Amino acid sequence: MVEQPYQYRRRELAEPDWRRLPGWAGVTREEWESAQWQRAHSVKNLRQLRDVTGPGLSEAFLADLERDQRERATMSMLIPPQMVNTIAPAAASAAGLTDAWYADPVRRYMLPVFSDRQPEWPSHPYATRDSLHEAEMWAVEGLTHRYPTKVLAELVPTCPQYCGHCTRMDLVGNPTPSYDKHRFTLTRDDRLSAMLSYLRSTPAVRDVVVSGGDVANLPWPRVEAFVSALLEIDSVRDIRLATKALMGLPQHWLSTDVLSGVARLAAVARSRGVSLAVHTHVNAAQSVTPLVARAARALLEAGVRDVRNQGVLLRGVNDSAGALLDLCFALLDEACVTPYYFYLCDMIPGAEHWRLTVREAQALQSAIMGYLPGFATPRMVCDVPYVGKRWVHQVARYDADLGISYWTKGYLTALESDDPLALEREYPYYDPVHLLPGAAQDWWRAQAARSPRPLEDAGTRP
Ligand code: SF4
Repeated sequence: MVEQPYQYRRRELAEPDWRRLPGWAGVTREEWESAQWQRAHSVKNLRQLRDVTGPGLSEAFLADLERDQRERATMSMLIPPQMVNTIAPAAASAAGLTDAWYADPVRRYMLPVFSDRQPEWPSHPYATRDSLHEAEMWAVEGLTHRYPTKVLAELVPTCPQYCGHCTRMDLVGNPTPSYDKHRFTLTRDDRLSAMLSYLRSTPAVRDVVVSGGDVANLPWPRVEAFVSALLEIDSVRDIRLATKALMGLPQHWLSTDVLSGVARLAAVARSRGVSLAVHTHVNAAQSVTPLVARAARALLEAGVRDVRNQGVLLRGVNDSAGALLDLCFALLDEACVTPYYFYLCDMIPGAEHWRLTVREAQALQSAIMGYLPGFATPRMVCDVPYVGKRWVHQVARYDADLGISYWTKGYLTALESDDPLALEREYPYYDPVHLLPGAAQDWWRAQAARSPRPLEDAGTRP
């Protein structure tokens, strides 16, 4: 008998026992489920990591991590206990801990080590900070108006967790030894007021992604005030709160004050016929624990219309149909979270070892079709600079040998209001060079040698 390429079976979620980690052996359930305790015990440096894991992680691993932080990292280290606890949950003894951590999907994107990176091409020659050019499209500081009917509001430049591959590495988080961060010039209150004024005077915008960073890092009363003001704007019909913390710090979304605030907003949204949803960012099935599921369901019970997942396709994390389907079913079956998108990892510095080719993403899209309900089958998308999200099969032209895909669009951004060719132009996107045939890699080496521009836009933004 021929077997299905993917065998579905419902998997019961399990919260790994944090007491297996020497640093948290005495931590009670009450402490663990407190958002305050989680924030206070988030791991921010090697010493804290060593204190948590005990002697199990080898000195070589820690040196590998320290070198990455010093020479390559675009994001500083910040990982809540909830997420640390999902790394290598089955490594029963200290003996196999280092190997399990090296291989672990969550570790691979949250705590990248130097040896993970591509040695010759750690960055694509055209990698840039702010690779989606969001700041160029700010209508007011922090409000990206890229698509005709929707905007992204960056409320806060921090998160409770920092992902190694963060698209907004230009803005989000603390400086690293290699990368400074852009700083907002306006105060937060002035910035948020300017955003609301713009939206009040721009009725073409019907959809607002309230993001950051992560809205979980803004005090809840400020989030509630901002969303309440959005709900008073007649033209705003969709509001999406973006928070990876639903997975990284579910304790935040389970806290009573936050949940009661969500319920107040959801009631107003319902009464006005506005769709209020939560968007999260989960990349690996093991991250979906009972606490994460409880938080997602609590948001639904509080009245948000949907909780959706936007993951990122990352090599070594979720680059197989099986890994993606395991994740989607864990989200859907146990947490009532709708799989929505998987993005190709953007072309920021240091991302080459994570990035997939467009062709690989197309193959993954094809491979997962037919297993999930249609409404919960995630689209694989490429966020093309100056274009926006394109479904990976929408590519207009593709030179897979040189790893250059070309994309078109059917709308103008504010940057192109006087460009008559904007809708005819093809916009390029690039596959990782190290995955191309040898002759194509030689071509790229020659390009890089000839280019007057630096290999990557690594400096501080002017
Ligand atoms: S949670 Fe989102 S914004 Fe924050 S570091 Fe991760 S990818 Fe970046």
